[in-house]
Amino acid sequence: TYTLGPKIDTWDVQRRNWLKQNPDFPRVVGGKGRILLVTGSPPNPCDNSIGDHYLLKGVKNKIDYCRLHGIEIMYNMAHLDREMAGYWAKLPLIRKLMLSHPEVEWIWWLDSDALFTDMVFEIPLEKYKDHNLVIHGYPDLLFEQKSWIALNTGSFLLRNCQWSLDLLDVWAPMGPKGVVRDDAGKLLTANLKGRPAFEADDQSALIYLLIFQKEKWMSKVFVENSYYLHGFWLGLVDKYEEMAEKHHPGLGDERWPFVTHFVGCKPCGSYGDYPAEKCLKSMERAFNFADNQVLKLYGFRHRGLLSPNIKRLRNETDNPLNVVDEHDIRRHIVIGS
Ligand code: UDP
Ligand code: MN
Repeated sequence: TYTLGPKIDTWDVQRRNWLKQNPDFPRVVGGKGRILLVTGSPPNPCDNSIGDHYLLKGVKNKIDYCRLHGIEIMYNMAHLDREMAGYWAKLPLIRKLMLSHPEVEWIWWLDSDALFTDMVFEIPLEKYKDHNLVIHGYPDLLFEQKSWIALNTGSFLLRNCQWSLDLLDVWAPMGPKGVVRDDAGKLLTANLKGRPAFEADDQSALIYLLIFQKEKWMSKVFVENSYYLHGFWLGLVDKYEEMAEKHHPGLGDERWPFVTHFVGCKPCGSYGDYPAEKCLKSMERAFNFADNQVLKLYGFRHRGLLSPNIKRLRNETDNPLNVVDEHDIRRHIVIGS
């Protein structure tokens, strides 16, 4: 069967020794485990050029969030492994990054079509100190319903450790393009509720693995649904004005979703599950909703959630530092809410 690379058995020891020998590359900075946000898109231009524009907006949105929260970013456009093209590309990439950045404690995979829509909310890392995989989902959908949407692999955190390498090893074998991926797709459709007939995807494969090897893995998996580590876009994008009226950023849940993910929209490719126009309009709204939170520090906001144009929020002042104290969203981080 397919492997991601030579079997590694002693990563925890190797990494610990490396960290000891490289005190300039600490695993923890400012009391928080180092996070590397990883995302990417295919190596070639989108079929539709508007898709490239939204990929750019997706990157800008991620840069903004990560700058504000001291998170590093990796944007990948290469196919490290041709067999693992498409949504499977994240697996060899995550493994490579863990092994190449031993100083990174968490790899956070985020799809290109997922936008941060709460620029204040922070991942409550302390909550996950005894876990190695943090993923949005619902335990009852996973174990009772065996639903193919019980978890979403568009946004998850994986700790840099031996356990994660082992998980990647058993997760990957359904990925190779062609007969293997096609046959595995049939197995997944036969076993997972609601799954249409198509080739094996990384999300279904992970769900299948966690259901059938529950005892082996679940003690280190945190299935999160107290905030939107991943939030399905339909049902969120139409409510941004209402949220802005009633609530404030920093909540991360249905009141002010942390991430809005455009599952099933394929602005870069040619086929999707939803009309392209609806997808693009909704992405524009999500982007501007987030961008308003960033622009506030600089004294501007968009004229509306569909407008690229901005307007001034306040007059310029000869005492700019007061404005910093008042509007810098890094100071309004709401802890534990
Ligand atoms: N992706 C990638 N390289 C590729 C194809 C896809 O990095 O060649 C990434 C990209 O970030 C994309 C993700 O894989 O967002 C998953 O695909 P998509 O978002 O289209 O799936 P969906 O969320 O709609 O199920
Ligand atoms: Mn996606």
